[in-house]
Amino acid sequence: MGYMAFVLLAVILLILLTYLRSTLRQATAGFFILLVLGLWTARYPAPVTLTLLGFALLTALVLNLPWLRKWLISRPLFNQAKRIMPRISKTEQEALDAGTLWWDQEIWSGAPEWNKLFAYPETKLTAEEQAFLDGPVEELCSMLNDWQITHKDLDLPPNVWECIKKNLFFGIIIPKEYGGLGFSATAHSEIIVKIASRSIPAAVTIMVPNSLGPAELLMHYGTEEQRAYYLPRLATGEEIPCFGLTGPEAGSDAGSIPDRGVICTGEYQGAEVLGIRLNWHKRYITLGPIATLIGLAFQLSDPDHLLRDQTELGITFALIPRTTPGIEIGSRHFPLNSPFQNGPNKGHDVFIPLDMVIGNRAGLGKGWSMLMEALAAGRGISLPALSTGAGKLASRATGAYAMARRQFNQPIARFEGVEEALTRIAGNTYIMDATRLLTVHGIDNGERPAVITAIAKYHLTELMRSVANDAMDVHGGAGICLGPRNLFGRMYQAAPLGITVEGANILTRSFIIFNQSLLRCHPFLRREIDSITQQDPARFDEALFQHLGFLLSNFSRSLVHGLTGGVLIRPTHGSRVVQGYLRQITRLSAAFALLGDLSLLVLGADLKRREKLTARLSDTIGHLFLTIAVIKHFTNQQEPEEDRPLLHWACRKNLYLAEESLWSFVHNFPLPPLAGLLRLTLFPLGRRLRYPSDRLGHQVAALITAPTKARDRLTLGVFVPAYAEEGTETLSKLDCYLPLMVHCEQAEEKIRMALKQGLLAQSDPLARVAEAEAQGLISAEEAGNLRRLEQLHQQIITVDDFSNLTGEEAL
Ligand SMILES: Cc1cc2nc3c(=O)[nH]c(=O)nc-3n(C[C@H](O)[C@H](O)[C@H](O)COP(=O)(O)OP(=O)(O)OC[C@H]3O[C@@H](n4cnc5c(N)ncnc54)[C@H](O)[C@@H]3O)c2cc1C
Repeated sequence: MGYMAFVLLAVILLILLTYLRSTLRQATAGFFILLVLGLWTARYPAPVTLTLLGFALLTALVLNLPWLRKWLISRPLFNQAKRIMPRISKTEQEALDAGTLWWDQEIWSGAPEWNKLFAYPETKLTAEEQAFLDGPVEELCSMLNDWQITHKDLDLPPNVWECIKKNLFFGIIIPKEYGGLGFSATAHSEIIVKIASRSIPAAVTIMVPNSLGPAELLMHYGTEEQRAYYLPRLATGEEIPCFGLTGPEAGSDAGSIPDRGVICTGEYQGAEVLGIRLNWHKRYITLGPIATLIGLAFQLSDPDHLLRDQTELGITFALIPRTTPGIEIGSRHFPLNSPFQNGPNKGHDVFIPLDMVIGNRAGLGKGWSMLMEALAAGRGISLPALSTGAGKLASRATGAYAMARRQFNQPIARFEGVEEALTRIAGNTYIMDATRLLTVHGIDNGERPAVITAIAKYHLTELMRSVANDAMDVHGGAGICLGPRNLFGRMYQAAPLGITVEGANILTRSFIIFNQSLLRCHPFLRREIDSITQQDPARFDEALFQHLGFLLSNFSRSLVHGLTGGVLIRPTHGSRVVQGYLRQITRLSAAFALLGDLSLLVLGADLKRREKLTARLSDTIGHLFLTIAVIKHFTNQQEPEEDRPLLHWACRKNLYLAEESLWSFVHNFPLPPLAGLLRLTLFPLGRRLRYPSDRLGHQVAALITAPTKARDRLTLGVFVPAYAEEGTETLSKLDCYLPLMVHCEQAEEKIRMALKQGLLAQSDPLARVAEAEAQGLISAEEAGNLRRLEQLHQQIITVDDFSNLTGEEAL
């Protein structure tokens, strides 16, 4: 065997063995056999043969004898790593320890196991939950008048507050034994979807007590006494809670709150007790202005060591009654014309007894880990539901509006430019719905997946912004001029709210998602770090060599998949319709894991500062998860034939963007030679995936511009108000318009033909219908339907105007 042939065979063997993820022993045996064969056929002089064999044997021994390997390789690396490893702060550590690993870990494995996806249970609503949606939620939605709330009252009206309290809307997550509804995360999400499709301020008001707040924290960390006292009062709205973390100096960097509590003795209800003296300044606190119970986060210290030897105990949460002396509360912020209650509050030398701390003494200094745990699940429920509710409303209303609104003698939906926006509205809503559902099903199955919920929060609030933009564009002036008939103005204004709260999106995208996933989901990194901090070189050695194998295997897989486009990947599960997408997810997962690993290797601790790079990797893992959710959603819905365009559009868009972010990552990788090698490995034949075609986009838009079953499935959960002839409920009119329009198609065609033949002289639509009826061109029933259609059309295109703009009635 010639030298070149030998090298070539060795490379192929290396790729094959690492592709198949063979063990170190199997790989050593494989190379030995190849070497022996090579030397035998090459017939080198004996000394050369013996030297090469000796060298190979030595390498094999070093790699396969653990004590020798540790001594020569891993121990020096262990010592070096110990010296350079950056210290992980307490708050970082608590963030890393919070929650569970889920599909983020599967993506990081480079080879997701699809049987897990298809076997994953879907939560069905119980009869009681469904009855709640059909009863109290419908009732509440029909009471909500968003224009009245956002323009005139700047608050929810008293009857709405009463309905919220009476029906336990503030106790959705509170268990039944404490007087709440005890609903699943899925039911919670459905409730928010429906209310958000009606009124964002109402949805936010109901969301907050049910997400990151006192109830959630009490359920997990409160003492039994605290739970028994507060949870029933919170469920009925007797206590209105708020949760105060953010302040003027601490927004995104919430761990740095300057608000202070000092352990001391003081007077409480006439007695001298051990407690905490507090000073704080918070802002942006939802429900703050009307809260009766303030959930407060502060830094706690014990300078006189009255409780512990430590001086700084860390972030702590307490539940403080509003009536406690020293609290200044009640003024309001005005968040983008969504007048849910939100405002600042301050405390000056407020003294509270220790039992106001959540968890009492056991909760001292535990606030950050409580928050991270609560965030790990909570972030995946409310904001994704709010965003999806808005998306569903946009899909249902905008598709119909684009058929009702005519310009240049045609429904505007017929123009490709408008169709493009309609496609994005429908396709993105499908992605939002799928992601929301998979995430809440995970939470219902006991997951608290910190990275996945951050992905859901980030992507769905961004998709809501995109859908709101598109809906506004299609509605033109009718979207811009506010009033009771306007469906999207307030939703468009509210889009940045979800983007900013619960981890503002720039930070979530460019820092949190990838960095957390790297440390939490990488199959070996955490074990390496733990072995260093725990001074365990044996564990380090094992993790290090498994890590190297993992890196090499992702390299081989990326190269082979790059060359073959992933055709060698054979998913064992999933129908033929989705298998191509599963293949691409596997291909891109291996590439993602490789780049994640290499970026850490090359940039080390500096990676934390390279946010443009980590943002791209966060986009990749995010879009891959979104694709997974879409496939699962399509499968859960029994793969409806009619929904295939939505499936294909959503998968192709997400996979295209996942590949795009890898592509631009490689092009911006700071080490040009390595960047070149990575380009050749991941994209040996260039980029593989395309954005969904115009033809597919046309099929998607067609689903929401006609009264199809796919449209009903896509917008399931939207609140559709009852039709009233004189009313201003635009959605109810749009909902009547679309089926009638289909029903009138034949009659309209007859009129068009008659016009072409010059049989009709009238230009006014109603007069023309009368003329056609009089001439017997259409029947009386057809004429009646056409008149009704025209009447609906006029109602739909009506835009509110006012005698003055200070909140008077619409003219
Ligand atoms: C309507 C509303 C309701 C709210 N409700 C509550 C509540 O009930 N309780 C509560 O405690 N808080 C609440 N908040 C506060 C909310 O959580 C904060 O607004 C949020 O954490 C961001 O803080 P900030 O507004 O001070 O922005 P800043 O921290 O000033 O951030 C500004 C921008 O910089 C970006 N940024 C900051 N650091 C980084 C970084 N390292 N890398 C990349 N980008 C970065 C952010 O992503 C953001 O885009 C609410 C806010 C609003 C607007």
